Amino acid sequence: MDYRVDLRDVRFQLFEWLPTAKLLEAERFADWDVESVGMVLEEALKIAQEQLAPCNETGDRVGAQWSDGKVTLPEGFHEAFQTVTEGGWIGLLADPEVGGMGLPEVLGTAVNEFFSGANVSFSLTLMLTRGVGHMIAGFGTEEQKRLFVEKVLAGQWCGTMCLTEAQAGSDVGASKTKAVKNADGSYQITGEKIFITAGEHDLTENIIHLVLARTPDAPVGTKGLSLFIIPKIKVNPDGSLGEPNDVYCNNIEEKMGIHGSPTCTLVFGQNDGCTGFLLGEEGEGMKLMFHMMNAARIEVGLQGAAAAGSAHQAALAYARERLQSRSWKEMRNPDAPQVPIVEHPDVRRMLLGAKAYTEAMRAILLQTSYYHDMHFLTEGEESEKYKSYVELLTPICKAWCSEWGVQVCHWCLQVFGGYGYTREYPAEQYMRDAVIACIYEGTNGIQALDFVARKLPMNGGKVIRELLGAAEKTFNTAKSDPELMEPAWMLAAALKQIETISKELTKRPDAIQMVLLNAPPLLDMVGTVLGAHLLLDQAMLAKTKLGAILAEKGVGTDDKKAYKEFLKTDEEAAFYHNKIQTAIHFCYRALPTVAAKGAAIRSGERAPFFAIM
Ligand SMILES: Cc1cc2nc3c(=O)[nH]c(=O)nc-3n(C[C@H](O)[C@H](O)[C@H](O)COP(=O)(O)OP(=O)(O)OC[C@H]3O[C@@H](n4cnc5c(N)ncnc54)[C@H](O)[C@@H]3O)c2cc1C
Repeated sequence: MDYRVDLRDVRFQLFEWLPTAKLLEAERFADWDVESVGMVLEEALKIAQEQLAPCNETGDRVGAQWSDGKVTLPEGFHEAFQTVTEGGWIGLLADPEVGGMGLPEVLGTAVNEFFSGANVSFSLTLMLTRGVGHMIAGFGTEEQKRLFVEKVLAGQWCGTMCLTEAQAGSDVGASKTKAVKNADGSYQITGEKIFITAGEHDLTENIIHLVLARTPDAPVGTKGLSLFIIPKIKVNPDGSLGEPNDVYCNNIEEKMGIHGSPTCTLVFGQNDGCTGFLLGEEGEGMKLMFHMMNAARIEVGLQGAAAAGSAHQAALAYARERLQSRSWKEMRNPDAPQVPIVEHPDVRRMLLGAKAYTEAMRAILLQTSYYHDMHFLTEGEESEKYKSYVELLTPICKAWCSEWGVQVCHWCLQVFGGYGYTREYPAEQYMRDAVIACIYEGTNGIQALDFVARKLPMNGGKVIRELLGAAEKTFNTAKSDPELMEPAWMLAAALKQIETISKELTKRPDAIQMVLLNAPPLLDMVGTVLGAHLLLDQAMLAKTKLGAILAEKGVGTDDKKAYKEFLKTDEEAAFYHNKIQTAIHFCYRALPTVAAKGAAIRSGERAPFFAIM
């Protein structure tokens, strides 16, 4: 399976639109400049294309295999893992002190889009391993750091996050796994976790599980949960491996997609021999786990964007080749030849829609990552401001991008026609693999509740006001451009809709029910407005760049035919031209859904409360 990504757009968003070059001037990134991070990007793409993509289809067809407690990963995964670990890619963002590359988050997001877009099943293990390394580096004792961090970030050992139990999915506070303190300060763990990604496999000799468990007499709910480091194989004080730690994988799930990623049931302490080590303090488990979950939520949103990007590129390549029907311009000519389907208006609409949503997702994710970097590079109020932006945007990254990722995959499958539904082409796998991103790391329903109940009210609504205020600024600039004026006014109307709805909703006597009922459409409305704002902002930049090329080459736009011919010969001009068309299309097609959703919510309709189910 080939992997294609619009590297030109990734570069545009990173280096022309976002001030990544400025970011790299910080002391923290002294080892890096635009040229060297550009090389990192190209190397990552090469690995994605040459190592990860070729085993994506095998991963799907053969899948992870369970036998007698052991899990074997599909052919190609082991070699790919070796390349990734030898290149230090798991520690991409980690401090050089612990063997990391020390790159900014924004670069990590771009690299992870390639890895995830090429093979999401494989990349999940990297995400979790990286997360465990960062968690122990951030919250572990000196001893824990010494024993685990470098080995995990180097990929010598992998990692997992273990929250879910049969009765505790969204309701994590219902977890029952027990942790009883031993005399030496370690804990004896007993319990069963389900749906654990990469809970068992043959990539590494050891796996470090981060497990939520409840100590005796701990309060009910999430407040009573503590977090434990539980190695699959015990680790001796000198770092060497000891005895197995009584962690048994008794099943892997048969799933709709991501077959190359083993989703495991793990039994801890079935022979009373499972030892865990407290990370942080007792009762802090959920608070700490949120650090890992929030990072993972952004990466799961990235899975949606990456699937969309892969599916769009595959569909575009197919549409340029596949001949079918006559051109609409020759509808009445029976002798006209078949044309590539990319010439049919409906196919063009699906492809431009896919491109627009992909780029909007990429923009939201990269900007959130940039805010994350700025949080660490700044101090005091400034740093807190960026932190609050990341917090508010996290459920949007997760839910908006995963939801639209699936929709884009669907449009792209449709471009392939009947072949899209077959296994001959990658479209169906992209779609099956993308669906899970709407479910794990907190379902999109739970993300929307977090968004409306915790994130929107943050700092008395100041954070959302600032983020939407930036959209207002984009409107104010774009409205003076003749080509972007109409889309800009559509953005203004959508912003007004959000403002009105927030005022109206809070005044209703049934405000709580209405907010609970409408959390997902509310999240979608804000995600759509942010997507439009960022694409319009990019379009304005693209206009300047395109204008400079046209001026330099002495080309005008009045003669439409000549301008079109010129675009066919100048890739850069065509790229900027397309950025503008993409933003216009998104504004016209996506922004009206904000008003439609708003109208549905403002109607006060509450039938789901009254229907008998
Ligand atoms: C392939 C795969 C990999 C996974 N990997 C991991 C992993 O590595 N580690 C891990 O710990 N877990 C993992 N999970 C578990 C995953 O995070 C859970 O499946 C998910 O959080 C939902 O829990 P649930 O399946 O029990 O669904 P439920 O909680 O039963 O939810 C069912 C439906 O009810 C809705 N719902 C539930 N509560 C509410 C509420 N209060 N208000 C509104 N709606 C609600 C949900 O949104 C959902 O639509 C994985 C799952 C899968 C399928």
